[in-house]
Amino acid sequence: MSKQIVIFCDFDGTITEKDNIIDIMRTFVPEEQWKPIVDDIFAKKTSLRTGVYALFQLIPSIRRKEVTDFVLNRARIREGFGDFVNYCHEQNIQLLVTSNGIDFFIHPILAPYAEKINRIYCNQSDFSGENVEIIYPRPCDEHCDVDCGMCKTTIIRGYDSNRYFKIVIGDSITDLEGAKIADAVIARDYLADTCEELGIDYQAFANFHDCIEALATFITRTEVTQ
Ligand SMILES: [Mg+2]
Ligand SMILES: [Zn+2]
Repeated sequence: MSKQIVIFCDFDGTITEKDNIIDIMRTFVPEEQWKPIVDDIFAKKTSLRTGVYALFQLIPSIRRKEVTDFVLNRARIREGFGDFVNYCHEQNIQLLVTSNGIDFFIHPILAPYAEKINRIYCNQSDFSGENVEIIYPRPCDEHCDVDCGMCKTTIIRGYDSNRYFKIVIGDSITDLEGAKIADAVIARDYLADTCEELGIDYQAFANFHDCIEALATFITRTEVTQ
């Protein structure tokens, strides 16, 4: 039986070298305000949805242009991403970006590649109030009680396991639940360490050429065809 490969690729700290949300907080918000929220997210005392919402509420909407210019100038795309996007396109692999990041920086950063990315899932921002408000158009379904914000597992479950070979690529806590239900995982940093601890099989990556290599092994190793 042949399955089509579908990739669920994280954005912050995966496609970009660093986490853009943390970078924005470091620059525009005093550490004593944002750091406890981030610590609570990693300690799982605050959900991602509540935490990311609270973080952006620390930024006045009037700083929209400043924040946007900062993140667009600052974000660095990880090495090999362009080749990776082309590879997926040529191999007829479905490439989805699934991110808990925010539309106002994700869409402009991915614009040069957008034509070959099948779909981008992320959160939205509203700058019309006094402070930045985050809107979550993709909440958790009845199978997920993590309160993700943008629920990666809900999207992953939307793809029929009989038809698709599902690969998660990611770096951090937002990718962990997806990694648990994927057919294969390509990981770095926190996600790699946590997969190691939990005994989840994964391939390590430092750049997207590593991801292309990993994909090539999945294509040959499984019965998967495109
Ligand atoms: Mg990430
Ligand atoms: Zn969820």
